[in-house]
Amino acid sequence: MLLEIIRGLRELAFPSICIHCHTLVPDSSHFCTTCSTALLADPHSTCPRCASNVGAFMDLSKGCPRCRDEKYQFERVFRLGEYEGTLRDVVLSMKQPTGAMLAECLGLLWAQHAEARFREVRADVVIPIPLHWSRYWKRRYNQSQALSEAIADRLKVAHCPRWLRRVLATPEQTSLSGTERRQNLRGAFRAARGADLKGKTVLLIDDVLTTGTTLNEASRALREAGAARVIVAILAHR
Ligand SMILES: [Zn+2]
Ligand SMILES: [Zn+2]
Repeated sequence: MLLEIIRGLRELAFPSICIHCHTLVPDSSHFCTTCSTALLADPHSTCPRCASNVGAFMDLSKGCPRCRDEKYQFERVFRLGEYEGTLRDVVLSMKQPTGAMLAECLGLLWAQHAEARFREVRADVVIPIPLHWSRYWKRRYNQSQALSEAIADRLKVAHCPRWLRRVLATPEQTSLSGTERRQNLRGAFRAARGADLKGKTVLLIDDVLTTGTTLNEASRALREAGAARVIVAILAHR
């Protein structure tokens, strides 16, 4: 419902302009052909377990060299693309307080493009990685939630962003080592009381995967609350 209102308002406010590069588009698409082609083209083969780039003929039955020794709480990860070029630019713009509409539009584009892949998951529920309230307060919206709402809407699957909570405010992860990240995020997530996760397959959505620690800790919280499977979908792999 909310999405429909946003879409309607956008069509009124910005008829036929690409939401990313602002060139004119001939129809009511949210992105121009150049941007959507750049966003949807992932030229790499990827590891089905962690979504890293891999060589074309690599044996991936136990994952790739990057994830083979890792124990994950999620079953697998798929992605829209690599964190570079247009996708990187869009992800950065999405993080601005004004990025909500861009995130909605990108979520719709992604859900439409990868619909078969999303459906294969047979998810019972779609959940985004939550922001801690203090960051939410600063940014005013959660970009992963904007994406997951568009995806759940397209799949007609329940969207339950309140079922997972970020209970610890953790600093930005980029400057930390792998071990520090893991320690830093232990216990950062908790399933909400009353979240009906028992036996459920969860499609967990995030914008960027860097090491997988955040997604792993969030998956742990979901599994501890009874989720049978967690499948992760990320916009961009870093
Ligand atoms: Zn464009
Ligand atoms: Zn891998």
